[in-house]
Amino acid sequence: MKIAVFPGSFDPITTGHVKIVKRALPLFDKIVVAIGINSQKQYLFDLEQRMRWLERVFADEPKISIDSFEGLTAHFCNKIGARYLIRGLRNASDFDYEKTISQLNHIVGKELETVFLISEPEYSHISSTIVREIIKGKGDASPFLPMEVVLK
Ligand code: ADP
Repeated sequence: MKIAVFPGSFDPITTGHVKIVKRALPLFDKIVVAIGINSQKQYLFDLEQRMRWLERVFADEPKISIDSFEGLTAHFCNKIGARYLIRGLRNASDFDYEKTISQLNHIVGKELETVFLISEPEYSHISSTIVREIIKGKGDASPFLPMEVVLK
């Protein structure tokens, strides 16, 4: 059974994340979309809210499950028997960062393989960071959000 983890902060989940997961689905038997909890990091949305959105967005897809973890992503993968990590690449700075992390994860995660999907051009400008900026500036972020993510 090929199990992959798609880790992230998902603060909040965007249409860019959803597209990566959908494209990765045919490659794996199961995908665990997992929120990594970093106690040093300040999030705009709390864990429960981010989890609830993930649950709703992927509710109709039996191959996808939602989880969260503390500590190293590689240890979480080993614990649940996932041998693959999924990451999306938008640009060269994503690549530079992800390259190092994936090399480390390959060692720490006992042969854990990271599978990279290059963002489609129409999604490569979308990030949770810009979505948070739009929300803080009281703009309309809905073009970048799945319909299940409703902001009050
Ligand atoms: P992190 O805090 O780990 O960067 P994010 O939630 O920001 O978590 O992103 C999780 C993953 O989704 C990362 O691999 C990131 O590169 C990818 N990603 C985010 N937005 C997009 C997008 N628009 N297109 C493709 N991949 C994306």
